[in-house]
Amino acid sequence: MKELNCNGCRTCCIGDTIHLRGGDDASKYQTVEGLTGLQLAKGLDGNCIYLTKEGCSIHDDAPQECKAFDCRKYEQMFQSWDVQKRMSRSSNPRIAKILSRGRELLREEQQ
Ligand code: SF4
Ligand code: SF4
Repeated sequence: MKELNCNGCRTCCIGDTIHLRGGDDASKYQTVEGLTGLQLAKGLDGNCIYLTKEGCSIHDDAPQECKAFDCRKYEQMFQSWDVQKRMSRSSNPRIAKILSRGRELLREEQQ
């Protein structure tokens, strides 16, 4: 699989809640305390505070959870799930969009 090039895509960032992990330097980010620990702060639109019209404004410095996510791998994982699990996930419009983006990128790689 090629290196992921998000190229300004914001699909998985919109509406997401990003939790900081052990290796993240919390002092680098605007955060809020959530029920399960520190999260990236959100703007008035409910999206990550670092999300801009052009994509992530801290791309190279984004927390581990962001860096680890790859919609192509998520789509591959989705395909390995049973029908019930697939139906339950894909009925969420946000998740459906992410899976669709992953499929699109996988198709492009096969061409
Ligand atoms: S949906 Fe995929 S291409 Fe778009 S930002 Fe997320 S990981 Fe990158
Ligand atoms: S830090 Fe960047 S990659 Fe992570 S959710 Fe915010 S905008 Fe998206």
